[in-house]
Amino acid sequence: MASPRVALVTGSNKGIGFAAVRALCKQLDNGVVYLTSRNEERGKEAVAKLNQEGLKPQFHQLDIDDQTSVDRLRDYLKKTYGGLDVLINNAGIAFKAAATESFGTQATVTMATNYTSTVYVCKVLIPLVRPGGRVVNVASMAGNFAFKKLSEENKDRIRAANTEEDVALLMKEFVEIANQGDHLSKGWPNSAYGTTKLGVIAATKALAQKKQNENPKDDILIMACCPGYVDTDMSSHKGPKTPDEGADTPVYLAMLPPGSAGFNGNMYSDRALDNSW
Ligand code: NDP
Repeated sequence: MASPRVALVTGSNKGIGFAAVRALCKQLDNGVVYLTSRNEERGKEAVAKLNQEGLKPQFHQLDIDDQTSVDRLRDYLKKTYGGLDVLINNAGIAFKAAATESFGTQATVTMATNYTSTVYVCKVLIPLVRPGGRVVNVASMAGNFAFKKLSEENKDRIRAANTEEDVALLMKEFVEIANQGDHLSKGWPNSAYGTTKLGVIAATKALAQKKQNENPKDDILIMACCPGYVDTDMSSHKGPKTPDEGADTPVYLAMLPPGSAGFNGNMYSDRALDNSW
């Protein structure tokens, strides 16, 4: 029997990820949608909430910072469905403006989750993505703002980063320099979070190009987006958009029909192209 279409959202027990699961449950025909959470209890409570709305997502544990957890999910999807059709990499963290940790610590911790773990999930799960599949990395406009704050030399280095490994080296350099307190004098931005999202946008371009080169006929699209400023725990509920509105662009990209090749590798905001580099 043919597998149903399988969609999965990381970090979806609350906020924008939760709303993305809700939208996918409504929009994905003949599909199964996975709500994932690093904490099983929080994940199952979130599934129960959607059940009350008449929606039926499945649950799987996923902590993107734990490679064993990511690998276990890959093995499960492979064995159960033979592949994956939609992946929204939504899980992310941000220190609050009032946080007392040093800039270096904030850079280290935020980079580990928002960049390194997100890219690890891409590397492990993208090989499962079937023809016609869509991968959406939830970045942020903060990444574009961070880009504008780079020195001209660093802008050129980011633009020239053609592989994910190139981007990873630049992100590692930023974290090292941030820990030395030299990030401003060395032409990096004063936003740890923004720099992690800048890395996600750059890695998305690189991963999309690689996939396109490897499987040019498979119509697999890998894209980045900003959900907007959204009323969630991350924004301390200051964002004007509802989580459902925040999920709109990621889900729009995840549901792009065949013939959308021009979207590959790009960054979107409010459904519109936002390649400001
Ligand atoms: P929330 O803080 O409300 O939710 C974040 C989600 O990510 C939670 O489910 C959280 O799980 C999960 N998460 C964090 N770390 C991990 C991990 N290691 N493994 C698995 N899940 C994890 O944030 P938002 O919904 O606001 O943000 C979602 C995405 O949108 C993020 O990538 C964020 O950077 C981005 N974004 C948000 C904006 C906004 O205005 N809110 C603006 C621009 C971008 P747990 O409950 O266990 O902590």
